[in-house]
Amino acid sequence: MSIEKLLIANRGEIALRIHRACHEMGIKTVAVHSTADADAMHVRLADEAICIGPPAARDSYLNIPAIISAAEISGADAIHPGYGFLSENAQFAEIVEAHGLIFVGPKPEHIRTMGDKVEAKRTAGALGMPLVPGSDGAISDIAEAKAIAREIGYPVLIKAASGGGGRGMKVVPDEDQLESLMQQAGSEAKAAFGDDTVYMEKYLGNPRHIEFQIFGDGEGNAIHLGERDCSLQRRHQKVLEEAPSPVISAGERARMGGIVSKAMADMGYRGAGTIEFLYEDGEFYFIEMNTRIQVEHPVTEMITGFDLVREQIRIAEGRPLSVEQEDLVFSGHAIECRINAEDPVTFAPSPGKVSMYHVPGGMHVRVDSALYQGYNVPPYYDSMIGKLIVYGRTREGCLMRLKRALEEFVIEGMKTTIPLHQRLIADPDVQNGDYSIKWLEEWLERQKIE
Ligand code: ADP
Repeated sequence: MSIEKLLIANRGEIALRIHRACHEMGIKTVAVHSTADADAMHVRLADEAICIGPPAARDSYLNIPAIISAAEISGADAIHPGYGFLSENAQFAEIVEAHGLIFVGPKPEHIRTMGDKVEAKRTAGALGMPLVPGSDGAISDIAEAKAIAREIGYPVLIKAASGGGGRGMKVVPDEDQLESLMQQAGSEAKAAFGDDTVYMEKYLGNPRHIEFQIFGDGEGNAIHLGERDCSLQRRHQKVLEEAPSPVISAGERARMGGIVSKAMADMGYRGAGTIEFLYEDGEFYFIEMNTRIQVEHPVTEMITGFDLVREQIRIAEGRPLSVEQEDLVFSGHAIECRINAEDPVTFAPSPGKVSMYHVPGGMHVRVDSALYQGYNVPPYYDSMIGKLIVYGRTREGCLMRLKRALEEFVIEGMKTTIPLHQRLIADPDVQNGDYSIKWLEEWLERQKIE
């Protein structure tokens, strides 16, 4: 069924990204917004806009009845959830479908399975993906925990089954501390997520974060679009992402890509998804799957020339995958810098009014942002105000172009993380691609001392 009008249940740059894909496909768009976002760019660009509540996200962008009503009033026939907010809420997907609307995303049961960390790991293992050694599901019993930890070897990691954003995790260095740290992890998880279920994994000392982009048609066919390296993180938040990973060979990409796309085909997965792995000493270890479009999807678009949001919409319309694996060509290198309205040294949020705005341009430079001159960045939402994505035929060329583009980027009226990215890409380790998920926080510590 073809979509004629699509409601975008999101805000900021991703709402614009979806709007752009829709208009390129001849689809009309409906924006929804909180009262704080009445002047936002996504509201201005969309064909129609409907206010769905007050500033707090729980009353607006997470307000399911208001969003469904907006779809009904406007006569939309589909809803795209973007990322964050309701994008991985299986119940929302079910409600959308129960109202006869198309949900631009996976089948609700797959969102649910992959949203439960223990269930996701079990499913990934059954589908042939490599796992981090650890407990087979939840552990409650200390004797059992000791036995598993001895078998896999210390240090081990206790993780909350309902965890997210890196919360509810404890590194256990030795057996003496196992019982108390397990209890602590359980009670922290209970307080944060209302669920004290924990499980155990071997703690990897110095891994990279490497994730594979996949698409499935929901009918047993799936493809992969290669990997992204998202190891540069602060407090489990990605800061800079690149594709391809500087450490993955074409052979490894084809091998792992084959494993993940076969898994997704066997699952009958529908739409876009990302399978996240830790990578250490040449081995991949599944950590989780994101059942939505991701912030960093443009780096994949840059090296494949493939429009990921357009493909999401086509699949939601029930069309087949628009390319076959053999037709996908990976060429060149792309890097994305997440620009946040934050102090680049302390990371304190810095919302404010954009008094001067100039975006970089030129060959192979892309800025995805909902900012404009005179716009007031509201304090209620995520601090990411834009993404700078740059392509080069080689990684070296890409870094040179990125340096040039960052020099041109002017955002005045608030502090941003542009200066952080400038320092970051000047570092020899980043230039050599020589970093792990620990690297950025250690680097930030060193910068404080110097
Ligand atoms: P969350 O859903 O809370 O983000 P993840 O399972 O994705 O939890 O883990 C978050 C982060 O914690 C990972 O990106 C990685 O940095 C670290 N991590 C997770 N599992 C391990 C592990 N077994 N060993 C070392 N680090 C890990």
